[in-house]
Amino acid sequence: MKVIADMHIHSRFSVDGKDDMMTMCRAAVDRGMRYICFTEHFDMNPRDYGFGYFAFKKFSEAIDMARDEFGGTISILKGLEFGEPHLYPKEFETMLKKDFDVILGAVHWLGQFLIGQKELEENFGQEEIFEKYYTEVLKATRFGGFDILARQSQVKFQS
Ligand SMILES: [Zn+2]
Repeated sequence: MKVIADMHIHSRFSVDGKDDMMTMCRAAVDRGMRYICFTEHFDMNPRDYGFGYFAFKKFSEAIDMARDEFGGTISILKGLEFGEPHLYPKEFETMLKKDFDVILGAVHWLGQFLIGQKELEENFGQEEIFEKYYTEVLKATRFGGFDILARQSQVKFQS
């Protein structure tokens, strides 16, 4: 199956992204993709290492430049991955008013622990972690307002 869209990618505008947006667009065009959405991280938890990292204006300028360059060959969507929107309703509301095409809702934090962090597994059993994770996901989903619920690849069953 040929993949023509990717609705969840991170460029250098995310704290954990390392690639240049133009390079990523070129790679997507070379693969024959039709739609990509840059969904940069936006985290309001002050413990998050990406707290305060996202620069909306620079990101917007980069999106505009990418659209100028590649607009005829690929649809470049302007997205955001907002962490735990239900915990930060005011900030979430502010971001919703901006010109994003797509907003992902994500759960990265379970209380004071970041998912994937060793301390989480030291303090809780696997079942407890899943319980906590899906409870938080349910809260985020009931709160709503976003377009897509982001998948958390760090929550896995160990065999
Ligand atoms: Zn992501």
